[in-house]
Amino acid sequence: MKAVRIHQFGEPEVLQYEDIPDPQPRKDQILVRVKACALNHLDLWVRKGLPGVKLPHILGSDIAGEIAAVGEYLTGFHTGQRVLLAPMHFCGHCAKCVAGLQNQCREFTVLGNAVDGGNCELIAVPSASVIPIPDTLDFIAAASVPLVFLTAWHMLVGLAGVRPGQTVLVLGASSGVGTAAIQIARLFQCRVITTTGNESKLEKARALGADYAIDHYKQKISEEVRKITNKEGVDIVVEHVGAATWDESLRSLKSGGTLVTCGATTGPSVAIDLRHLFARQLRLLGSYMGTMGELHEVLGHVFAGRLKPVVDRAFSLSEIRAAHEHLEKSQMFGKIVVNP
Ligand SMILES: [Zn+2]
Repeated sequence: MKAVRIHQFGEPEVLQYEDIPDPQPRKDQILVRVKACALNHLDLWVRKGLPGVKLPHILGSDIAGEIAAVGEYLTGFHTGQRVLLAPMHFCGHCAKCVAGLQNQCREFTVLGNAVDGGNCELIAVPSASVIPIPDTLDFIAAASVPLVFLTAWHMLVGLAGVRPGQTVLVLGASSGVGTAAIQIARLFQCRVITTTGNESKLEKARALGADYAIDHYKQKISEEVRKITNKEGVDIVVEHVGAATWDESLRSLKSGGTLVTCGATTGPSVAIDLRHLFARQLRLLGSYMGTMGELHEVLGHVFAGRLKPVVDRAFSLSEIRAAHEHLEKSQMFGKIVVNP
């Protein structure tokens, strides 16, 4: 099959489009023909070098495709079935996994991180990872859903406990997590404030359901939030930007507010004034992906059309280097997808 592999860490030039042997699925696995695979910032981190990544390695976390073969131990699936894959790997039998907390499993990793991913034509996976999709959802849209919608759902619903009527600040409207979090907060009838970088992105953020869009280059986030909320601040901040916005995110919270973070795109080291943390009774929560139960829950809303995938652009798999460069320039609004 064709696959994109890295044999060393580095710039987009390390991405090699090449022929490799087809995977040999076990009798308890499903072989999926990949039709689309979305990019995430994780692809950039893995390409540049993360511990635990064995070379050569296949990137790609978000996969949609058709079932090519069903292992003989399995029932309930058929070849040709249109599916997407849970974007993660877990043991399936530890105390955390059987309790439904797969993202706390000691073996938990994202597809394409510590295990091979979907920048290829065929992938063999356990049946628990295979989720049928409706005919109304094309492969590119389907691939753009799992990682970011699961992440945003776990942050807002699973951890922050969002409730109708709250005010939510979503950092980075144009990112995958941003586009998902704006829609989920709207689904819960929240007032949504978001931030992004230029007029066309501000317009798209409003079209997606944000009540207020702040230009983070021209305006100070916490000052705008104070104006919008009549000096009160927001109930929840959805953070993934990191060092560049951390202080502004904390300042935007009301007393008793919750900041939930899943990323550090602009850098991982931030400062916290403990006096503000305890006196203002803030909650700071770390979030990593989500559980299988949450994935099925959020997909139900996507399949029903209440939450919509946001696709920026599709590239062919052989143009993977251009796709990585497009993601690194942050020009996009929504997901970048490659198709084999
Ligand atoms: Zn486990």
